[in-house]
Amino acid sequence: MIRIGIDVGGTFTDVVLLNEESGQIWSVKVPTTPANRVVGAMEGFKRILELSARRAQDIGFIGHGTTMATNMVVEHKGARTALVTTAGFRDVHIERVLFPPWTTDWITERGHERLKAYGIAPPGPSTTAECPQCGSTETEEVSRFGATPCKAQWRCKSCAEPFERFKCH
Ligand SMILES: [Zn+2]
Repeated sequence: MIRIGIDVGGTFTDVVLLNEESGQIWSVKVPTTPANRVVGAMEGFKRILELSARRAQDIGFIGHGTTMATNMVVEHKGARTALVTTAGFRDVHIERVLFPPWTTDWITERGHERLKAYGIAPPGPSTTAECPQCGSTETEEVSRFGATPCKAQWRCKSCAEPFERFKCH
C-alpha cells in the first residue's frame, strides 16, 4: 500500500509518502496556510505525488495529524471539522491521527535548558512556571496562547517580566 502522512504545523506542513512494498519514502515541506490550512495540505499532497510520480488513485491511506489540532483537542477548543474528498480518489481510507507525531515529553533536559536560556519556560506537569529571567515561581498565566499556539503567555510577579511557557502536548 502507498501511505501518505500529513502533519500541519504552525509554520510548515510536512507530507510524507511511504511505499510499503519497496520501503521508499518521500517527504516535502510546504508553508502552512493559516487562513485555510487545507490549501497548504493540498499543495503538499500535490507536490508529494509529483515527487514520487504517483497519482491520487494510487494512495491507499492518508493519515492526517496536526499538533495544532492536538492543542485544540487537549484544550477542548475548536470546531468539529471534516475533510472529505472524492475527486480522483478511489477507496481511500482517511484517518485523523491524534497520536502526536511529536510530544513535549521528548524534549531533553538539554532542550529544557536551551528553552530557559532563550527566555521560554519549558513544559512540565507543574501548574506553576519558573520565571526564566529570575527563577522565581511567583508567576501567573496571563493567556493560554502566546506568540504561537504551542505556548502560553506568563508573567513573573517578582521581576514583572513577561515570558512564554511551552505547553505540554
Ligand atoms: Zn522573574
